Amino acid sequence: MIVFSGAALDRAAALRRRPEWVEERRADPRARAVLMSDEGVVLEDGHLLLERPGAEAVLLGLSGETPLFADHVGGAVPDRGHAAGLREAATELPAEEAALAAYAGSLLAWHRRHRFCANCGAQTEPRDGGHERVCPACGAHHFPRTDPVVIVRVTDGGDGLLLGRQARWPEGRFSLLAGFVEPGETLEEAVRREVLEESGVRLDSVAYVASQPWPFPSSLMLGFSALAGRQDPRPGDDELAEVRWFDRAEVERAARGEGPLLLAPPYSIARRLIDEWLAER
Ligand SMILES: [Zn+2]
Repeated sequence: MIVFSGAALDRAAALRRRPEWVEERRADPRARAVLMSDEGVVLEDGHLLLERPGAEAVLLGLSGETPLFADHVGGAVPDRGHAAGLREAATELPAEEAALAAYAGSLLAWHRRHRFCANCGAQTEPRDGGHERVCPACGAHHFPRTDPVVIVRVTDGGDGLLLGRQARWPEGRFSLLAGFVEPGETLEEAVRREVLEESGVRLDSVAYVASQPWPFPSSLMLGFSALAGRQDPRPGDDELAEVRWFDRAEVERAARGEGPLLLAPPYSIARRLIDEWLAER
């Protein structure tokens, strides 16, 4: 399963449009809230610490009969819990709970950043259980954003894998090339453009593989595989410090935790795409 995905939840998209239904769920003694503090999601003994939802909590959905909310608690972390960043939570939590943490984190981050109308600047109000904000001054409706990012496994059809190192990463850390989709382009065009910009490599073919919610704060990683002739890569913009082909043997050693090459962490789609390529042999 892809980490940050697979929350076993009915999002109740039709029911949550009724404010009285949402308030009944909030008042339900079974209702619980995922807590997000300023330092991250609140955990207790390897699980999400769930509390009664507050008046500002947004609705995530129904888990069976249990209404689940997300609450921003600022610096008020309950004594029995501790705050963890979502990357850390991804390694500590069962996959389903990591998915809830990602969902809660992205939705609450959107509320914090969209308190004012992008159209007229007036203060907006939450609606739809927290899945919409409405501007009382100009009537504009605002919806939570998801920012598409393409990430691509470029191989030469043989034993070569193209990896890049961002300038801010430590020596030896490499990953797949990735970038935000821009207005007016298809996903496939974004893949070809990003790889060309970052490495100078022209792709022969591009195919979609899988996606992963990436709650930092609200991206959706769209994973692709691509084939290219073995062209000499060169960093084409300021983002990458190095870009080069790695041989399968080097990548296999890195996947075992050996050698100088450091790969992306196991919970990332980058690592999943690399591991699948290694397993293809
Ligand atoms: Zn407005």
